[in-house]
Amino acid sequence: MEISYWNKDVETASRQDIETIQLSRLREIVASALSTDHYKRLLPKVGIASASDIKTLDDLRKIPFTMKDDLRQNYPTGLLSVDFKDVVRMHSSSGTTGIPTVIYLSREDMESWTDLVARSIVATGGSRDDVFQNMMSYGLFTGGLGLHYGAERVGMMVIPIGGGNTGKQIQMMNDFQTTALHITPSYLLHIHSKLAQSGVTLEDLNLQRAFIGAEPHSEETRQKLEELFGIKCFNSYGLSEMNGPGVAFECEYRDGMHIWEDGFIPEIIDPETGDVLPDGELGELVLTNLTRKAMPILRYRTRDLAHLYDGVCRCGRQHRRLSRIKGRTDDMMIINGVNVFPSQIEEVIMRIPEVGTNYQIYLTKKGAIDQLTVKVEIYSKIFSGEASQLDQIKKRIAEELRASIFIHPQVQLHEPGYLPVFEGKAVRVVDQRDQM
Ligand code: ADP
Ligand code: ZN
Repeated sequence: MEISYWNKDVETASRQDIETIQLSRLREIVASALSTDHYKRLLPKVGIASASDIKTLDDLRKIPFTMKDDLRQNYPTGLLSVDFKDVVRMHSSSGTTGIPTVIYLSREDMESWTDLVARSIVATGGSRDDVFQNMMSYGLFTGGLGLHYGAERVGMMVIPIGGGNTGKQIQMMNDFQTTALHITPSYLLHIHSKLAQSGVTLEDLNLQRAFIGAEPHSEETRQKLEELFGIKCFNSYGLSEMNGPGVAFECEYRDGMHIWEDGFIPEIIDPETGDVLPDGELGELVLTNLTRKAMPILRYRTRDLAHLYDGVCRCGRQHRRLSRIKGRTDDMMIINGVNVFPSQIEEVIMRIPEVGTNYQIYLTKKGAIDQLTVKVEIYSKIFSGEASQLDQIKKRIAEELRASIFIHPQVQLHEPGYLPVFEGKAVRVVDQRDQM
């Protein structure tokens, strides 16, 4: 396979060279951090009063973790390290408590973010020949604008359509012969279910690749999407606290996402003890953004569970790879004492060929006992078929789930279009236990 690079020197740099870049950038970002109200208070307490107190990369471990709550408490400017006039962009996400968090970027920060997104796109084989339809929502959410700038930089023809309006999405894909998409996996599944009604066939389209991200999804869902559309799907990981997309992206080998380690320092920790774990072990991802000077965030606890690969990728890049996100520490369900991640359920149901493109997980209570109900859409041809076949499918799903998560679920089969559709991040779990 011919590998394309955006910035070959940095992408194929040796581990030693990557670490040299990291150390010098860590010093710079610590210097910026020391001019924010938040870190000015914290860092001297752990013996870091100036950038020169960072002697080796190991000194990072002296720095306390930064939590989502720190961002909330410092809203709106407690983590700003430049003059407000030097900020050219802000993004914001409203958390569950309703107190928003905000991030700021200077012109140079925009430059480094855009460059990492461009690098990510080129790593998938994307190029100026692509027609790129960006189906992630624009606005305060980082997904839309983040990819937009990177794709323009690569020279793609960008269609900034944003999320939603499936009919129009299909029409645009057809009229402009779109080759590349950026979309959540749940919405891409939905688009497939609408394709038949639209009168447009896959043969009319020119789709080649999709960047899928913003929400957890299983390998089985990726495979399903690749088969349904006859395209390659590349996992894209990012979060607003670290700018947004462009933190980690799959290369053409699609075997784990390269974390751009000249831009970030990744660590995996035990979420209970905070201890740093070796490569290969599952834990919570902690990220330090090495280049965003307007708003430095050090050792941010993402709450995302994953592991780092220890081997080197066939593409020649030495930047370590991040596994698929298994779930978030805060979306783990405890069902009658058993820990279950939604992704474990998704893996099982997406393997079953009769299962269509949407599902949802319901948690309720019967007396003191938790009840798990998995609602699954089935392809219409099968749904309108024999009742005995439906019973068999139901039984099979229930049995395979029980074998995998050790809980006996109720399974409901529905026709396509029954379950709610999400144009952005899907809500897969509805927990009604505390309302019962
Ligand atoms: P919010 O915390 O409001 O959802 P973001 O829009 O910044 O804020 O979303 C970032 C989160 O989305 C990540 O922390 C992660 O949980 C999830 N996410 C993003 N990309 C992926 C991906 N490729 N796979 C799984 N989860 C992802
Ligand atoms: Zn690779």
